[in-house]
Amino acid sequence: MRRYLWQAYRFYERKIAGARRIDGLVLDVGSGNSPFPRADVLAEKFLLDDSNRIWGRKPILAAPTVACDAERLPFRDGTFDFVVASHLLEHVDRPDRVMEELSRVGKAGYIECPDASYDKLDSPPYHRWFVQMRDGKLVFTQKDRAVFDPGIKDLTHKTLYKDGGFWSTFWRHLHSFFVMYWWEGSIDFEVHYLDHPDGRPGSAENSIFDDENWLEEHGFVVVEAEEGAPRSGLDQRLLEAFWKFLALVVRGPRPYPSVFDLVVCPLDRAELDKGGLADGESTGTLECTSCGKRYSVVEGIPYLLT
Ligand SMILES: [Zn+2]
Repeated sequence: MRRYLWQAYRFYERKIAGARRIDGLVLDVGSGNSPFPRADVLAEKFLLDDSNRIWGRKPILAAPTVACDAERLPFRDGTFDFVVASHLLEHVDRPDRVMEELSRVGKAGYIECPDASYDKLDSPPYHRWFVQMRDGKLVFTQKDRAVFDPGIKDLTHKTLYKDGGFWSTFWRHLHSFFVMYWWEGSIDFEVHYLDHPDGRPGSAENSIFDDENWLEEHGFVVVEAEEGAPRSGLDQRLLEAFWKFLALVVRGPRPYPSVFDLVVCPLDRAELDKGGLADGESTGTLECTSCGKRYSVVEGIPYLLT
């Protein structure tokens, strides 16, 4: 019982209490299956591929959505007053590039990741980075293998996760299991890349994660969702209805913006020509007025992937 009370309290603390006080335009990057209820716009890369989400869950599209890459956000500088990135950065190839994008499109924001110690206990193979908070700075260390220790992971899943006492501890001490970081203006971070086996130093431009064979050999390639069946049908519709209700509670009556007023070309950040949009902005194409690249719009979602 105490476990559920703590879980509910942490949910309220993280998703509702502070969110209601945020003014202005809010973006959630990597919103996945748990969108920030205060978000005006959701940015999600994996609308069809569920392999990066716990139990292969489907994304919840509770607000206007843009399909895009967090390393190339299709928005102008300072478009958003607040940007949330929750349980995103441990998944990406280049967290430094993503954090530069977050602080480019946003004026302030919130980052949440599992703490490195917790990631060593559980080790989801789709996490690529150990994240720690050191002297008020976010420190990312590239993982050299997907599963830190198979024995510890097995023990965690077989015993701790099956024990309500563990979950009571987890939610009560959530600040030790998760890194929680608020920023304004800029993000203070350090990213440590692994050296290559041939001795070349790693960097955002020269990352071991560029090598698909290395990723596969080290267990990072997740072909299918880890366990359980993806939600679909009525389950999914009920979940979406729940998150939309939560958004209504948190956002109040403020209207959602049209994503078509906000997006630009992710390659050169030039204006997009909306002449190819039909059906009240729900399907068609957007064309960059500078580089000429065309992007599809399907069911109201622009696919601004490069
Ligand atoms: Zn362009």
